[in-house]
Amino acid sequence: MSKYIKNLTCSRCGTIYEYKDKPSICLRNDLGRLDVNYDYEALKNFYTREYVSKKPLTNQWKYFDLLPPEKSENIVTLDEGATPLIKARRLAEKLGIKSLWIKDETRNPTASYKDRGMSVAVSVAKEFGYSKLVTASSGNAAVALSAYAARTGMEVYAFVIEQASYSKIAQLLFYGARVVKVRGLGREDPTVKMMRLAYEKFGFFPSPSFGPFNPYQIEGSKTISYEIVEQMGWRVPDWVFVPVGAASLLTGVWKGFRDYLELGLIDEYPRLFAVQSTGNPPFVRAFKENQDPFNIRPWDRPHTIAWGLEDPYPWDGDAGLKALKVTGGNAEEVEDSLIVEAMKALASSEGIFAEPSGAASLAGLMKALQDKLIDKDEEVVVLITGHGLKDPDVVREVVGDAPVINPDIEELRKALATHYKTAI
Ligand SMILES: *Cc1c(COP(=O)(O)O)cnc(C)c1O
Repeated sequence: MSKYIKNLTCSRCGTIYEYKDKPSICLRNDLGRLDVNYDYEALKNFYTREYVSKKPLTNQWKYFDLLPPEKSENIVTLDEGATPLIKARRLAEKLGIKSLWIKDETRNPTASYKDRGMSVAVSVAKEFGYSKLVTASSGNAAVALSAYAARTGMEVYAFVIEQASYSKIAQLLFYGARVVKVRGLGREDPTVKMMRLAYEKFGFFPSPSFGPFNPYQIEGSKTISYEIVEQMGWRVPDWVFVPVGAASLLTGVWKGFRDYLELGLIDEYPRLFAVQSTGNPPFVRAFKENQDPFNIRPWDRPHTIAWGLEDPYPWDGDAGLKALKVTGGNAEEVEDSLIVEAMKALASSEGIFAEPSGAASLAGLMKALQDKLIDKDEEVVVLITGHGLKDPDVVREVVGDAPVINPDIEELRKALATHYKTAI
């Protein structure tokens, strides 16, 4: 046993691995995720509300007892986590609900919640003695990975699809990542194929943001739930709304609450509500159609402004579906236009600017209220997962530009009237 990690078990075949053997992928090659199991009995001896409350919340490593790595000297951090839980009074009023909280993950070092998981993954890679990391993404996960790798002097090899936009590639290049575009489409994702080959042929540490190739990032995401529990005064809300792509975040959020339930720190789950865009809803469909969790039908042509949720196959969908079942949760898909409405409502009533993927959760809440899937008296936490400045192109398309005038009061009146429907 390593620290409080008992072992890791494959979510598909149940094969047991020891942390000291440095596992990343199930060697049976069945694309199962290695779930990290903890020794709750040993933890219960000291891990109490009092013990946790005494430690200041400066970053997610407050929860080191419940995280890999084993040795604290291996922690690689940029002060991720410790994000505020904000009471959204104006937004609640606008939506007509009683109690609404925003968990503002835009405040993380690279402006998305992915920092939590990548901080843990890079720390584990350091403990395992790796110096080269590989990922299959051009999005927030690769950006976070590259930042943490830079911080500790590791190399990142990032395989991205040929169509990846330059605004995403540029940031990766600045962090020093070796970015390579890979051609090809079809059933097998060409970037995942290259990541796998780099792991098998060169022994690079696989570090994407989904479980089957990287069991450790989910451990970082779970600290969101620890923080929510503490910030609410050791209780849980009725609902937590979560945007879903690969469903790794949903899995992590569930795991956080599960850890605290096992440790007796809370006595019930909040209900989890998963949200996807109608442009790519394989997970929501799987939930509604009761599909086999290990055989979720991939979406053929994902297309949504919420590019962070564009995974055609929800890699951690098995655990995500279980999370909804166990917590009495629900799932909905929302139109991109509702996501934009949510972005505007959030920014203009609470001062928080989210990217489309980051505000999809709020769009889900709007839909749930419209369809009466939740009650107006229920207490809701919405995860806002990524910052609006991540994707200026989408923003420009949606909100347009500002009017131009000569420095003249009459022209100002006219511009305000036509452009903003405002009279002064
Ligand atoms: C990755 C991402 C998500 C979705 O997380 P999954 O684990 O892929 O379900 C949501 N929001 C943002 C901003 C992301 O970057």
